[in-house]
Amino acid sequence: MDRYGDTEFKSISLPRLNNLKPNIESTALKLMEEAGELAQLIGKYRGLNGENCMMEEKQCVDRIAEELLDVAQVAISMMFVLEESYSIDIQKKVEGHIRKLVGKGYIKG
Ligand SMILES: [Mg+2]
Repeated sequence: MDRYGDTEFKSISLPRLNNLKPNIESTALKLMEEAGELAQLIGKYRGLNGENCMMEEKQCVDRIAEELLDVAQVAISMMFVLEESYSIDIQKKVEGHIRKLVGKGYIKG
């Protein structure tokens, strides 16, 4: 990824859940569910919903990281569905995605 100069990349590797039969609808629904759980936790942390966060800050942020990984896992599961059932080339999509970010000025080329 030298093309993007000193841009930092984070790579994580998440498994295919081979004990489930996911499709676009089920993964999309699950993605919204997990995003909701993440939002709920952040809301609690920030006290936006009127509840006081009874957890210590560190514990709360730790839970936020766990929920964020749930979101990432479902996104990965949906990518497997797109690749396998719809022949989408995710690697090509990643390249287009990065070009888009550069185009928008979010990454200096
Ligand atoms: Mg969750």
